[in-house]
Amino acid sequence: MLFDSHTHINNETYNARQREELIRAIEDSHLSYVMDIGFDLESSYEAYKHASEHSWCYAAAGFHPHYADKIAEEDMVLLKGLAEKPKVQAIGEIGLDYYRNLSDPEIQRYWFRRQLQLALELSMPVVIHDREANNDVMKILKEEGVFGKSRTDQFPRQKDGLPDARLLMHCYSGSPEMAKQYIKLGATISIAGPVTYKNARKLIDVVFDTPIEHLLVETDAPYLTPEPFRGRPNQAPYVEYTVRKIAEIKGISYEETARITLENAKRFFNI
Ligand SMILES: [Zn+2]
Repeated sequence: MLFDSHTHINNETYNARQREELIRAIEDSHLSYVMDIGFDLESSYEAYKHASEHSWCYAAAGFHPHYADKIAEEDMVLLKGLAEKPKVQAIGEIGLDYYRNLSDPEIQRYWFRRQLQLALELSMPVVIHDREANNDVMKILKEEGVFGKSRTDQFPRQKDGLPDARLLMHCYSGSPEMAKQYIKLGATISIAGPVTYKNARKLIDVVFDTPIEHLLVETDAPYLTPEPFRGRPNQAPYVEYTVRKIAEIKGISYEETARITLENAKRFFNI
């Protein structure tokens, strides 16, 4: 009854045996689905491969901002081809990362826009990575028409009547105010392991304030391991601990939280 909306079975540090073990752990867990999220062309192909091999796996294809410097024009053609394959349900993860700045910010912005344009062209959901680039991410999303009527009209309105831009703020780390703004514009927010950490005040406020219909859950495994396993490599089944924390913040049962976030993710990714 769980849906890990952002994981990396395709992580390049796994050897074949480790990946086998991970897949077994997922199959032995309470997970119903995972989204294996691409971060460059190779990892997007890997995600697609995993989705083809396992009924519980779906994929997203895209270039993470860390890899922006390495993107060539012809890669966009390959990305589009991949995005049109069965079980590839979203473009992502794409966005801006000014924290590590592994690629030139100007080049990050250029390919972020190009991939948003592709998602709009294909009417596909988008998974956004935003690290210390809040203002530029919001500005570019608006300028590219992600929240525009022609985009939101492609998707049914959300349960509470808000528009749906089919945009996921992955591993949300911004302010509660910005979260409210995103929700109003039609975005969905994904909560990861850091909500279980001691210093999570701001993120706890985000969860408290955001109606649960607009929340997804994720691990971003092998990164961001939730408590009580912080310090070890993360894995998709640990999404359970993030769901438990959200249930506690919302004052509803774990089962109810698991069920609703699963339904939200199925709707978002059109599964
Ligand atoms: Zn990721």
